[in-house]
Amino acid sequence: MMKYELIRDELIKKHKELEQRLKNTQKHINHEDGPPDPDFAEQAIERQNDDVVYGLNESARSEIMQIKKALERIDNNEYDLCLECGEQITIERLQVIPYTSLCVGCVDKKS
Ligand SMILES: [Zn+2]
Repeated sequence: MMKYELIRDELIKKHKELEQRLKNTQKHINHEDGPPDPDFAEQAIERQNDDVVYGLNESARSEIMQIKKALERIDNNEYDLCLECGEQITIERLQVIPYTSLCVGCVDKKS
C-alpha cells in the first residue's frame, strides 16, 4: 500500500465532489435549470445569486487545481517534499491541509 493512499483517496473523492458542484452551478449560471423569472425584481435577485454562485465556482476551480497538483505530487513521490526548501512536510500537516505544498517553516516565512 502506498504511503499516502488514504489521503489520495480523500483527494480524489473531494475532486469528484467539486467537479459535480461545478457542473451544477454552471447549469444554474447558464439557466439550464429553467428560464429567468419574468418578474423584474426576481430577475435582479437571480442575477445577484449568479454573482454568488460565480464566486463559489471560482473557489471550487482553484481548489480543483490544487487537488490536481497534490495528486500529481503523490504520483511523483514528492508529495511530502516542500516546494520551497525541499524539507519533508509533516504528515500531521498534510492530513489537515492535504493539498499543501509548503512546510510550516516556509508558510510562516511567506505570511
Ligand atoms: Zn519548506
